[in-house]
Amino acid sequence: MSESARPSILLLTTGGTIQGAASGRLSQGDYRIGDTPVARLLEAVPELASLADLTVEEMANVDSVEMTMPILARVVARIRQAAAAPHPPRGIVLTHGTDTMEESAYLLHLVTGVDLPVVVTAAMRPATELGADGPINLWNAVRAAVDPRSAGRGVIVALNERLHGPREVLKLFAQSADAFQSPGMGPLGRTDPDGVRYYRRSERRCGAASEFVGVDLSQLPRVDLVAAYQEADGTGCAAAVAAGARGLVLCGPLSPALKAAARAAALQGLAVVLCHRGAGGAVHVEAADRSWGLCGADDLSPAKARILLRLALARGVKAGDLPRVFGEY
Ligand code: ASP
Repeated sequence: MSESARPSILLLTTGGTIQGAASGRLSQGDYRIGDTPVARLLEAVPELASLADLTVEEMANVDSVEMTMPILARVVARIRQAAAAPHPPRGIVLTHGTDTMEESAYLLHLVTGVDLPVVVTAAMRPATELGADGPINLWNAVRAAVDPRSAGRGVIVALNERLHGPREVLKLFAQSADAFQSPGMGPLGRTDPDGVRYYRRSERRCGAASEFVGVDLSQLPRVDLVAAYQEADGTGCAAAVAAGARGLVLCGPLSPALKAAARAAALQGLAVVLCHRGAGGAVHVEAADRSWGLCGADDLSPAKARILLRLALARGVKAGDLPRVFGEY
């Protein structure tokens, strides 16, 4: 492809295992995050030069357990700025650590509001590892980002030859290259040697259709997660209330004591959302619990329900309107 005919891609990097390095090719899980410079990562995929003109910008270089809202706010601002430029890139690729990638991808899905393809990718093996998956994941992410059919879908998560929706995708396996799956739904599409293939679209609001585009990410209210289990008491709820939380996400099923504590928190004005602990299907909330304000998170994971609740509270959504939000996003 001639130079001018190549689509431009903005590659934003944030660190993670895709930029990890170990002293040997069999790291046994011990490696340093961020020690592989992006330039070296790109050298491992010289084929990219024939596919796109890449502009690389480092937004951060952290383990994704250290990802913060200020970093994400910078990423959102950069994506929106790039999309609004007189000559926007064809698409944007974001590299990220895998541990919290699904949280960042879902947040970006709801707040960036751009139409161009935004593809998030990562790696389970550091760049120095035998069978490193970063180069092929990056290749496939760029292939997806240059494909016009990737536009208008919000954010896409590209890993292990699959294209996932951020709402559904979960890191289900701790150490496998096949760690990411969309339980019960399957991926949106695939990248195989022949090309990029889409099979379905998410029905839920995202991208420009999201009411959370432009939310001030520096002012998100505190929302805490409380795990539920047999004989759980109200300690977690009480701690969240004492810490000033405006919302609680409970990962059910609720023991009687935890339910009583959650109800007390709701009476004090906190928004209370219930998830289930499985990996698919919508949680059921009984009418008696809906009556004191308990809202089901549909099939969202607890970490994603927390993000949606923070955005909803920041937008001033009242408790009575939360079921609509969890049904639409
Ligand atoms: N701890 C790493 C991270 O989330 C793991 C990875 O990227 O696979 O940044």
